[in-house]
Amino acid sequence: MNHNSLKENLDLNQAAHEMHDLLCTLYPICRSITGNGLRETLNLINNRLPLQIHEIPTGTRVFDWTVPREWNIRDAYIKDSQGKRVIDFCSSNLHVVGYSMPVHRKMSLSELQKHLYTLPHRPDWIPYRTTYYQEDWGFCLSHNQLMELKDDEYEVVIDSSLENGHLTYGECLVQGSIDQEFLISCHVCHPSLCNDNLSGTVLATFLGNILSRRSPYYSYRILFIPGTIGSITWLALNREKIASIRHGLVLACLGDPGPFTYKKSRQGNAEIDQCMMYMLNTQNTDHEIMDFSPYGYDERQYCSPGFNLPVGCLMRTPYGRYPEYHTSKDNPDLVTAEYLGDSLEKILLVLDLIEANRKYLNTNPECEPHLGKRGLYKYIGGQNEGLVDQIALLWVLNQSDGMHSLLDIADKSCLDFWLIRDAAHLLEKHGLLIPCA
Ligand code: ZN
Repeated sequence: MNHNSLKENLDLNQAAHEMHDLLCTLYPICRSITGNGLRETLNLINNRLPLQIHEIPTGTRVFDWTVPREWNIRDAYIKDSQGKRVIDFCSSNLHVVGYSMPVHRKMSLSELQKHLYTLPHRPDWIPYRTTYYQEDWGFCLSHNQLMELKDDEYEVVIDSSLENGHLTYGECLVQGSIDQEFLISCHVCHPSLCNDNLSGTVLATFLGNILSRRSPYYSYRILFIPGTIGSITWLALNREKIASIRHGLVLACLGDPGPFTYKKSRQGNAEIDQCMMYMLNTQNTDHEIMDFSPYGYDERQYCSPGFNLPVGCLMRTPYGRYPEYHTSKDNPDLVTAEYLGDSLEKILLVLDLIEANRKYLNTNPECEPHLGKRGLYKYIGGQNEGLVDQIALLWVLNQSDGMHSLLDIADKSCLDFWLIRDAAHLLEKHGLLIPCA
């Protein structure tokens, strides 16, 4: 079936490799929910997708929360009595617990140990930890590194600052034919972690770039925000924009080889939920549909009861279900160009559906219109490949009461969406349907 697909004229393989390249560029940066690593990340995204970069001052009240102090870090290490750096922030930014207070002290191993975090069952991996809302400090290291630490006096340095500053986020609006919006949201607050964080970031960047070169029906608002506090801040400061959001997707964990997982919006039957399920079913791709739950990513805020926005979350293997999650093994080897490309393709297919899905009104609803006199009835009898098209016309006419979308009709009739869409276009051309506003 021919339709204007967002995939048209797109070299998916090239896009997949460019996404992975961008991911590798962003990987070494030490990001957090505020600070210069986040700014540097947004500036690099800005080279591919022009962003409006917002700076929200520390102390700004956002619903029940307050924008925190800004955290920046220059260096951190643990030195033994010989002056050797046994743990070095320069070799992995995961070594420092995110939002650690500044420290410069000498201490014994037993005192230091209270601030060390490891994964004993994965002795080579470094865990990822944060302490955003409680003043503390700590180091994360592999369990093997911990085992090598001798009873010694250590010099412990975290050269960080926690000061009044800003929360930074990036936003891009791709204007469509109508002002109603599709919200795409991703978190950009994790340091060197790929599937959780950077896969969604690079996909959102490329989607924005592709959409800005097309003429989409919906306007697309793309948010690059620190998790939780970022979506709360955006919702608090943009209340007038919320009524325009017709659909939304949170993108995360989209570069690993696992099958797709779609977490439905809180509404459960929103158009985005319906389109996502239709796409995953018709692509015959292994997948799992999860009902909404109030834990996960920023869909928790968009789907809080005061907003209840139609926002779902697309992932491959979800948070917490792959062993590399929140560890140093969530690196550019876990996320591949191939799976980033596959995720991009599937998201574009969903956007194709949602862009084309409309509701119509039958202008001749009392009995069937006379299709023959309009040249729309081609029944010859016996073998007739036009029969399916006839049935599609009858389904669209019968269900176009302003209540059923084309996708509702496709689901009900078990006919292909694009066949139903073509039938609707033909009927509209003959004045038998008018689109609903
Ligand atoms: Zn995470």
